[in-house]
Amino acid sequence: MRNAPAIDAATLSTLLNELRLPAIKVLWPDFAERADKEGWPAARFLSVIAEHELAERDRRRIERHLAEARLPPGKTLESFDFDAVPMVSKAQVMAIAAGDSWLAKGANILLFGPPGGGKSHLAAAIGLALIENGWRVLFMRTTELVQKLQVARRELQLESAIAKLDKFDLLILDDLAYVTKDQAETSVLFELISARYERRSIMITANQPFGEWNRVFPDPAMTLAAVDRLVHHATIFEMNVESYRRRSAMEAKRQRGRPASFATMRNAAEIDAARQSEPNEALAALPRRNCSRIFNRCLT
Ligand code: ADP
Ligand code: MG
Repeated sequence: MRNAPAIDAATLSTLLNELRLPAIKVLWPDFAERADKEGWPAARFLSVIAEHELAERDRRRIERHLAEARLPPGKTLESFDFDAVPMVSKAQVMAIAAGDSWLAKGANILLFGPPGGGKSHLAAAIGLALIENGWRVLFMRTTELVQKLQVARRELQLESAIAKLDKFDLLILDDLAYVTKDQAETSVLFELISARYERRSIMITANQPFGEWNRVFPDPAMTLAAVDRLVHHATIFEMNVESYRRRSAMEAKRQRGRPASFATMRNAAEIDAARQSEPNEALAALPRRNCSRIFNRCLT
């Protein structure tokens, strides 16, 4: 190939541009040289460069899908501590993250729990895994999406705005319960849920389970109808755990504070004195009556 006239390479470049084969355009000279040197059959050369083009195409598609998904950065399944939410099965989450049939039939996932329990992290991490598996995902704060749909409604474009979201296999609506009262007065969220019902999936995170959703929709009948559609085909995770951040902070504090005070304390009176002079959450958490018994046992 190196001996081929320069004009051939230039023509080939143009042809590959027109055929939109950028990976082959970059890779063919080296592969051609290798194929000539090692005496590859022509079919092998062709299939090797075609495979590279395909792999590069997949990589670019996933990159595009990642950019459009607007996921919060750094939230992965690898960095999610499943031990912190024992009620959530890691195996079940992994099956969900693979995609499979639930997305194909437009089923939903609902994540409930108090603030800081890892709902948004888990939702974003599942979203990321799904994108890597070839699905299209959009992550949005619910209030922001409702705002956008309200603008579309004012411009008589609501239907087409909702239809545009159809390209996403999964819509992650973060913090549903934060929809404000004035946002709830229009029914755009209900229309979105109805339009996607049994066709396209929705994942919702919310601090408040259904009981409180009357604030989110214009009237109780609509709340009921929305909940009905959402739960018809749904997996619900109730993540009733203490805030992960708070727990991490307390753990760090405990590890800093504990050894010295344990090593030097002699009796319950000293412990009580320490409790007053240096408020310590680990100490404060211990029931006072049992303190001396627990510490005496520790110290003997
Ligand atoms: P929520 O959406 O339930 O309010 P977040 O997902 O925002 O909670 O979690 C708060 C912070 O704690 C985030 O930085 C998140 O990455 C972290 N976090 C929460 N739960 C876990 C967990 N189980 N493993 C690792 N990090 C967690
Ligand atoms: Mg959150």
